[in-house]
Amino acid sequence: MEEAKQLFKKLKIYSLLDLALIIPQSYNDTTLSTELEIGKTVTLEAKVIDSAVRNGKLRVTFELPGFHGRRLSSLFFRTTPYHYKLFEIGSHHYIQGRLEVYNGYLQMPQPKSVKEVGRVTPKYKTVLKESEIRTLIEAYITEKNLFDEGLDSKEVGVLMRLHFPKSIEEIYCDGSLKPEIVSVLKFVEAYNHLKKLRGKRIAFPAISALTGDITPFVEGLPFKLTEEQQQTIAAIRVDLANKERATKRMIVGDVGSGKTMVILAAAMTALPHKSILMAPTSLLALQLYEEACKYLPDSVRVALVMQGKEEGNYQDADFIIGTHALLYKEDLPQAALVMVDEQHRFGTAQRQMLEALVSKSQGGQVIHDSLHAQQITNHQTPMCKPHYLQFSATPIPRTQAMMESELIDVSLITTTPFDKKVSTKVIGKLEFPALLKHIETEISENHQVLIVYPLVEESSEIPYQSLDEGRAFWEKRFEDVYVTHGKDKQKEEVLLEFREKGKILLATTVVEVGISLPRLTLIVIVGAERLGLATLHQLRGRVGRNGLESWCYLFSNAPQNERLQKFCQTTNGFDIAKLDLKFRSSGDIVDGTIQSGQKFKWLDMAEDEAVIAQAKTRIGALKLEIRN
Ligand code: ADP
Ligand code: MG
Repeated sequence: MEEAKQLFKKLKIYSLLDLALIIPQSYNDTTLSTELEIGKTVTLEAKVIDSAVRNGKLRVTFELPGFHGRRLSSLFFRTTPYHYKLFEIGSHHYIQGRLEVYNGYLQMPQPKSVKEVGRVTPKYKTVLKESEIRTLIEAYITEKNLFDEGLDSKEVGVLMRLHFPKSIEEIYCDGSLKPEIVSVLKFVEAYNHLKKLRGKRIAFPAISALTGDITPFVEGLPFKLTEEQQQTIAAIRVDLANKERATKRMIVGDVGSGKTMVILAAAMTALPHKSILMAPTSLLALQLYEEACKYLPDSVRVALVMQGKEEGNYQDADFIIGTHALLYKEDLPQAALVMVDEQHRFGTAQRQMLEALVSKSQGGQVIHDSLHAQQITNHQTPMCKPHYLQFSATPIPRTQAMMESELIDVSLITTTPFDKKVSTKVIGKLEFPALLKHIETEISENHQVLIVYPLVEESSEIPYQSLDEGRAFWEKRFEDVYVTHGKDKQKEEVLLEFREKGKILLATTVVEVGISLPRLTLIVIVGAERLGLATLHQLRGRVGRNGLESWCYLFSNAPQNERLQKFCQTTNGFDIAKLDLKFRSSGDIVDGTIQSGQKFKWLDMAEDEAVIAQAKTRIGALKLEIRN
């Protein structure tokens, strides 16, 4: 048992199905061949009729009783006394090797002598010794164990066949795994993944049921909430009203889809209890604070907590907004609702810290061992947690959302309040003069322009200008040119000043950080083919935020690039996430490296939505069984 644990560790696997999914890389088939297929590996019964050594090589001539005594000769290049002894004249063998013809004579170079025929032996390729992996498989991969995992008889049958085959024909067809086997492997992979996620999710009771009225907020808004904003808010309100189970939900919506309104509605729902919102940058925290003050009814007390800047008294506030400076406040009041905006920009550690910090104020202990926690929640006074909402502007493909919803509920906001009027175009050197003209026009209309360079400094590896190289050109031709990049310590100040007075902003991809620049109508992305679609989408999301007509120019030396062309045809982040998956799984080169992006061996996240849906249904059924 202990030994097996060590081996599991070496294999980096955690479940029985992980083991079942380590399928043999090949099989050694010692079934006697009934045909002499040239070019194939065959197993034959053979009797030695001659044996001779020449130039250090051993030549053995066999007679094949199964084929009317036809002859076959074998040359052994690497010989030992063992070989001479083994292939004594008159001895009988089962030989296995590749069958060839030379001058009309059958040949089999360096055949193996096989002890037992009629067996198909799996060959695993792992970090373990062949004997070790085989022991594991034989001990754990049994019909009973597989059924106990929740698989059906077809799936169990396929896995048993793969690990304990009777014949090679039941596994391969034309040299590749049979389609029905592949589809079972896809299913098992999805199911195993979901099952692990399910195991990680633990329900905690909530600190309070939150049912505050949001009408004063909704009615005070200068616009009507979109259908999807309303639906998302409704889903959240159902969650928050539950005292039995603390909410854990992720709201994913494109840049500009109006997530802030959802955040504010959630804070309203929490009243009269407190809520806390953490943002990844001071700029964003400030923006959220301003929006909260602007849109929430005056009676709601809002506070801001940042390093070196505070507004309002956070101890008395109903709604505390801040950066990770929040994590260093020892006296943060207890909150019934915790939210994280742009969660994709935080490390997991920081997100968990905020959650832990807030539940700490509960006086409850933080339990790390999941089994232990489950026992406690079931049998003793359960530990309460605040409701928890996280917001993300990185659209994820539906398939991924389906997977992740095992661990956390997911709401997708796929539309934006404004019809985005953004035209995207791939351009090359030839179109540069026209681009300059266009930039001048935009600036003359009091709009702003953003030019994104691939690098700050010159590099021989990238066939594009760097920020440093391009800078002089723009500064000579235009006024109010601002420059910033990722390592720039003044980045936030530069962005704030640019927002007020700038005409052209030169930057690297740092501008991804979600600050809203309402007058920005034109973005140029230099060397666009080097960037992933998700990054391009984030960048394009910077323009046209308030419904102004805008343009995104992808400057590239390879204007025919298929990925870029496809990108031009849609502005919906969820479609782009799906495209991205497709290009990734086809091994496209992005950001200088080949994107594998595939964490599954069989399952294709771009194509196998139906398989995942099926696995989710099965997981759902499993839940019922456990409950009863
Ligand atoms: P996100 O955080 O999802 O990127 P924001 O919440 O910042 O998007 O919203 C983008 C812009 O759209 C803001 O200026 C916001 O005031 C505006 N907005 C949000 N919801 C609506 C709506 N229903 N109708 C009109 N404008 C809206
Ligand atoms: Mg936002």
